[in-house]
Amino acid sequence: MSSFASSIRPKLPELPESIFTTMSVMAKEYGAINLSQGFPNFDPDQKLLELAAKAMRDGYNQYAPLSGIYSLREVISEKILSLYSRRYHPDTEITITAGATQAIYTAVAAFVWPGDEVIVLKPAYDCYEPAIIAQGGIPVLVQMDPHDHRVNWALFKKAISERTRMVIINTPHNPSGVTFSTEDMRTLEQSLKNTNILVLSDEVYEHIVFGNGRHESASRFEDLASRSLICASFGKTFHVTGWKMGYCAAPDYLMKEFRRIHEFNVFCANHPLQRALASYLKNPDHYLDLGPFFEEKRDLFLSGLQGSRFKFKASQGTYFQLLDFSELTDEGDVAFAKRLTVEKGIASIPISVFNKDQQDHQYLRFCFAKTEDTLLRATEILGKI
Ligand code: PMP
Ligand code: GLN
Repeated sequence: MSSFASSIRPKLPELPESIFTTMSVMAKEYGAINLSQGFPNFDPDQKLLELAAKAMRDGYNQYAPLSGIYSLREVISEKILSLYSRRYHPDTEITITAGATQAIYTAVAAFVWPGDEVIVLKPAYDCYEPAIIAQGGIPVLVQMDPHDHRVNWALFKKAISERTRMVIINTPHNPSGVTFSTEDMRTLEQSLKNTNILVLSDEVYEHIVFGNGRHESASRFEDLASRSLICASFGKTFHVTGWKMGYCAAPDYLMKEFRRIHEFNVFCANHPLQRALASYLKNPDHYLDLGPFFEEKRDLFLSGLQGSRFKFKASQGTYFQLLDFSELTDEGDVAFAKRLTVEKGIASIPISVFNKDQQDHQYLRFCFAKTEDTLLRATEILGKI
């Protein structure tokens, strides 16, 4: 290797290929039913697609303002106020982003300095740690209970140090499908009182909560809200994961810093899609119906698994269901997920890759954001294993 090439110092350690890529590629290669990567296999609402096409035809094809178009920020502000009783000013406290991933990366880049510690609850979605490491920050990993995926708050409190700059939380939680309770949020709030620790609250599944459960947004809690950057995704809410549209809401003193970084890593998000979303979001039914819509899919999936050898607790939110396969095999989850894809024609996500030290907890994650036909074919296969 030339000395020039060898002078390159990777900002991120060599990471294995994303499990989402691995499993989706395998699903294709083996013609398997793909319940791995989280995306719907049905179309979004035609009305939304027409609004997007109209925005392009109407000429909204040049840059949007840096923070996003006002009408979209305004309707987001109204949505948060009506659901969680907190007002974020559209001018200074909401920014439209290129998906939640960019919102998360930007939030981390804006506040984490080299040597700062960031607490991450494991298993965790895979974009948090690379964002922290790229800033020279140190992820401090706190494993959730391996059986019920609840946070061990005593362990969490022990992980807090003088150098803790930020905590990343995610409810409803990917990959477990567990939601934080009011008590969880109050304990978090209490643990952070009188500290300078920020909260990055990943709430991309806020509208996918089942039964009588309610979404515990960080914005509901006075002290938490005052230190939180809330990241959301339209991809999840409107079945358009390929649009990569989302937003961040935070008090103005945090949003000011967020926008400094946002300006130079994207400047602004897709303009015509913002126009479409601004109109579509005005009708609350478009997001309030989402819980019951996915609950029906979850129930269809789980009813097909009654009497199978998989064990499970019904997901409380998100569009993921964990299945415990410990009665079927001693194999590791990665090996088993691959074997199911090749031999049985069904692809899932092994969750050890999201755990601390890749601990294996005998769970596979299945995405039930699929048509009835797909879910029935999937449960027929899984029920016979
Ligand atoms: N956070 C979580 C927990 C996710 O599951 C995802 C995947 N959608 C994201 C963030 C990223 O969202 P987006 O696709 O809008 O970037
Ligand atoms: N959020 C999606 C999931 O958890 C994956 C997004 C991605 O492929 N990075 O399946």
